[in-house]
Amino acid sequence: MNLVFLGPPGAGKGTQAGLVSEYFDIPHISSGDIFRKNIFTKTNLGKKAKEFIDKGVLVPDKITNTMVKLRLERNDCKDGFILDGYPRTVAQADFLSGITDISCVINFILSKEEIVKRISGRRTCKKCRKVYHVEFNPPDQKSVCDECAGELIQRSDESPEIIRKRLKEYKKKTAPLENYYKKEDLLVEMDASPSINEIFNDVKKILKKVSRL
Ligand code: ADP
Ligand code: ZN
Repeated sequence: MNLVFLGPPGAGKGTQAGLVSEYFDIPHISSGDIFRKNIFTKTNLGKKAKEFIDKGVLVPDKITNTMVKLRLERNDCKDGFILDGYPRTVAQADFLSGITDISCVINFILSKEEIVKRISGRRTCKKCRKVYHVEFNPPDQKSVCDECAGELIQRSDESPEIIRKRLKEYKKKTAPLENYYKKEDLLVEMDASPSINEIFNDVKKILKKVSRL
């Protein structure tokens, strides 16, 4: 099952991808997480990506495509994967269809007000990258990761100003992918406003159908 999770930042793609990854035992590949890991460990890729991410704009296609291709070639992707945050442009989607077949694209739909609420309350584990929300999905202990006891932090691209910029970028460059995948008959629309569990139940139903195809 080769999956793409589409939707604006803050819609809940990463949260759902984590649950799907565990349930179906396929890797969750977040292009943003790979970049952030590289920035943290100060690799060449990280240095290149940082200047774009800090501004709230997309990392150029060529850099992103190469990174994702290398990741998809790894052995753990042979039975499927979930791409979260990639593709983000039509050029990336064209590149992706040249290297693999996608089984299903889930489009997570959420209003701008809800997006801002979710992103401003989001906290990420510094160590294992697990995502929480101070109100909607809090850890057992404040600011401490349930899984690995790592510190929960707010990302540097989560200030209101950068969020607005990222949403604009999304509308301009990524939203056209909705039509792109609709035309290919791969797109499934998902209301991302209910609770995490309710959405996960709907996602599971869809994916059980997809995996039987
Ligand atoms: P994305 O990967 O699309 O940017 P995330 O999965 O990081 O989005 O979710 C954004 C924030 O909203 C996180 O803090 C997460 O805990 C919270 N969240 C995710 N899904 C829901 C939901 N269904 N209801 C309430 N909060 C949610
Ligand atoms: Zn953790």
